[in-house]
Amino acid sequence: MAVKSDIQEIRISGISASPGICIGKACLVDTHGVEVLNTYYILDSDLKKEKNRFKAAVKKAKNDLRDIIKDTPKELRQQSSILESHVVLLEDKLLYDKTLETMEAELINAEWALKRVVTDLKAVFNEMEDEYFRERANDIVQVSERIWNKLIGAAPVDISEIRKRVILVANDLSPADTSQIQLEKVMGFITDRGGKASHTSIIARSLEIPAVQGLNRATSVIKNDDLIVLDGVAGLVIINPTEETLIEFEVRKELYEVQKAQIGRQSHLDATTTDGITFSVMGNIELPEEVVSVLGYGGDGIGLYRTEFQYLSRPDFPTENELYEKYKDVIDVMGDRPVTIRTLDVNGDKAMGNGKAVAEENPALGLRAIRYCLQKPDVFMTQLRAILRAAAHGKVRLLIPMISGMEEITKTKAMLQAAAAELKKEKKVYNSDIEIGIMIEVPSAVMLADSMAPEVDFFSIGTNDLIQYSLAIDRGNREVAHMFNPLHPAIIKMVKHVADVSQKTGTKLYMCGEMAADPANIPLLLGLGIDELSMNSQAIPAVKSMIRLLDTKATRKFTKKVLALNTSDEILDLCQESYGDLLEEHFSVVR
Ligand code: PEP
Ligand code: MG
Repeated sequence: MAVKSDIQEIRISGISASPGICIGKACLVDTHGVEVLNTYYILDSDLKKEKNRFKAAVKKAKNDLRDIIKDTPKELRQQSSILESHVVLLEDKLLYDKTLETMEAELINAEWALKRVVTDLKAVFNEMEDEYFRERANDIVQVSERIWNKLIGAAPVDISEIRKRVILVANDLSPADTSQIQLEKVMGFITDRGGKASHTSIIARSLEIPAVQGLNRATSVIKNDDLIVLDGVAGLVIINPTEETLIEFEVRKELYEVQKAQIGRQSHLDATTTDGITFSVMGNIELPEEVVSVLGYGGDGIGLYRTEFQYLSRPDFPTENELYEKYKDVIDVMGDRPVTIRTLDVNGDKAMGNGKAVAEENPALGLRAIRYCLQKPDVFMTQLRAILRAAAHGKVRLLIPMISGMEEITKTKAMLQAAAAELKKEKKVYNSDIEIGIMIEVPSAVMLADSMAPEVDFFSIGTNDLIQYSLAIDRGNREVAHMFNPLHPAIIKMVKHVADVSQKTGTKLYMCGEMAADPANIPLLLGLGIDELSMNSQAIPAVKSMIRLLDTKATRKFTKKVLALNTSDEILDLCQESYGDLLEEHFSVVR
């Protein structure tokens, strides 16, 4: 690929959200409003040019709107009348003239001036008593977003509509957006926002799309069709690479694929340690289709089926039959391997589609997961019935997310019994003799593990949320992503406490958080006494091969030393000292 020599290579670092290396053309998409990050002053002599750039952007936005109105079917007249009003608003004095005036008065670029004007207008409209006027603030935001998109060259693209294979560049992508990405059209993606354990990055890993998140300024530096190198392992993005850089990354890409294939070739061997203990290594899935990839990578079952994705990208709720069919699909493919179906874990960063979303100040601390289900018994009952019916076809385990107190377990079990009673009465085929477990992902559940143990068959530690809720670190926030650390001594001590309770009470102990997906964490997890690990399917082969390199007695000794340390740095040093060479030898490029 030839690169023009007058274009400068730019490197920006972010968070490694999903491994893999790809090289391709950028496609800027705007799914959540464009942030104006490129604010700058202009020279007097450039004012006319800048004003013309703004006018041209408004004109293009107007043409787009007219095209949409023209293509709107008669039944959607209501919609097109809103768009008609947007056409008028585009050239409204308050917006159009005021932006031009601000550019002139302050000698600032068009995006900056527009942002200032919109912020002021929004404040004025929001202050108004009348609902109608407050609604107008939304119209102004929508109209201004159309102008921004034209100014920065980003089209509001429907991800499912992308035709060529590109690298998506967006300010942010929601988990629902990401689950719509089609691999034949998208090689990888880059976002300004996002943190290490965000659901967006989890889905990217499941779909095997290389991704870098938390780049802060990607959408302001990258232009449509720029050539991009995306290194999802290193969390690096290179814009307009030089010939040398391209060669370097073609080689790295090759090495990555060779090492991945080498590890993958042994993925069907058991994960048996050198001292003969075999561990189950399971896959996490979000969509039923991913089940094939879990098997392909040698997974021993499904350790976590995140069922909420069936609820996200649609305006209504799925029916019992729809859910039953989806669960049955997964169970049928897995045969006699366990399938752990987690009940609905919506809200938090997984907002539901139109009309179902709950507006909350702090969504992560809000009506999420089991809290939502217990408040919406009809929605929960539909899912519980579907799970019990599907359980008649295989080895199903039921997992309850975000448990923070005993009452939630008691209430869920009562609803499960009621669901079974209903099915019995209706003479439906079902199986209620299934294992029930809870996610340990809220600190109160750690503290109550001994009281909860007699109520359940297994614990599954969700480190993504356990870290978020224990260390007070938003898992999706790039500003604190560097602090999102599974090797924090507090997290290790919590896992140890749950492991001790499990051993004492004979409760099985699993882990399905992302901590389990990194080969570097495996010695510690085996040493702590985790019985079964579950992770994104891509990570299964490396984790299995790591287990095959370990001796459990040695991991226990190592873990004892880790538990005596009080800082993450000391723990990291000890991990490096004890297992660094082994990791470098076997997993240098893939992790
Ligand atoms: C977790 O919190 O670790 C977990 C596995 O659940 P989720 O990532 O879906 O919140
Ligand atoms: Mg969780």
